[in-house]
Formats: sequence, C-alpha cells, structure tokens
Amino acid sequence: MAIIKRPPKQSAPNVDLTSSEIQSYRTVEEIYARAEALGVKTFPFDVISYLKCHGVRIVYEEIEDMSGCVELENSTIIVTINKYQNQTRQRFTAAHELSHIIKHFPNVKDGEFKIGETVLFRDNETIGKVEREANELAAEILMPRNVFDSLLRDGIRNIERLAEKFNVSPAAVRYRAYKLGYIQRY
Ligand SMILES: [Zn+2]
Repeated sequence: MAIIKRPPKQSAPNVDLTSSEIQSYRTVEEIYARAEALGVKTFPFDVISYLKCHGVRIVYEEIEDMSGCVELENSTIIVTINKYQNQTRQRFTAAHELSHIIKHFPNVKDGEFKIGETVLFRDNETIGKVEREANELAAEILMPRNVFDSLLRDGIRNIERLAEKFNVSPAAVRYRAYKLGYIQRY
C-alpha cells in the first residue's frame, strides 16, 4: 500500500464519507442484506455491481506495478483496477478497495487521498495493519464463513473447486481457509 497525499484542488469540498451510504453497511451480514435489497447477486458476490449501485466509478486501466487504487475526486469515489490482471484478481482488488472505503476512508478531503495497491495476500510483519484489514474484509465479503462452511459440508474440499465456486483465485481460497482455521499455514 502507498498512501499518496495530493495537493488539495482549489474549491474542493470536504466530503464526510462516514455519512455516505456505502459506508453504513460495514459487516458482511449488512453488506449481503444490502446487496439482496439492491438485487445484486451474492453468490458469487458481484462486488463490481455492489460498488456501482453506490455510485462508485470503476475504471479499468493499465497501472504500473499496482493491482488497483481507490480515491475520491469531485465527491465521487473512484476505484481503479489494473486491466491486465486476471478476472479473479480484479475481483479481489475490487473487494479490497470496497473494504478500504468501508474501513479507512472517513473524513477524507476531496482530491487529496489515494490508496494504491501493490501486494495482496501477504500476511506477515511487513504488511501494514490497514492492508491486512482490507485483505481480511475482502476475503470475508467474497467468501463468507457460512457459505464456505456449507460448501465444505457439501464435500467441496478441493482448493481449485472452491475457487471456481467463489470465482476467486486459489491463492485467495487458501488465504481464507487459513483465516478460518482450516489450514495451519498460508
Ligand atoms: Zn489496500
């Protein structure tokens, strides 16, 4: 993660995102209830539609050495996704950025704040608390515990098959399985 402070643009209004709609649904249960109310598909979770339904602009472009970024510009939240990464990686990036919006975007000033992504799924001392929180919430959103458990109960125990079901990468499934305590090491 890199937090890039930009010089504020003139006449940029302050936007309190803590009062914005997308930030009022914070837990996985709240997010899923909201998605259902909006008619957004929840399995696999359609994170792009969820963002768009809340007015977030999604931009796909080439970003050197980054998976994506999230920023606020002219009172619009913009999530940029690296168009050269594969679709499952893009989905994780979108969920990761949604998590930043929910957890780390309070009281930002328009045009001055941006979080850029370089690394996903690392869970050691070198990755910051903010990134860990975003990865964890993203994995929960894409692979809720109750759905993960019910797939296991249905006998789907192969990492690749779980990844297909959730439409995420095998690496993302391993990360979630580790977080849920199903595997000892990630
Ligand atoms: Zn991040």
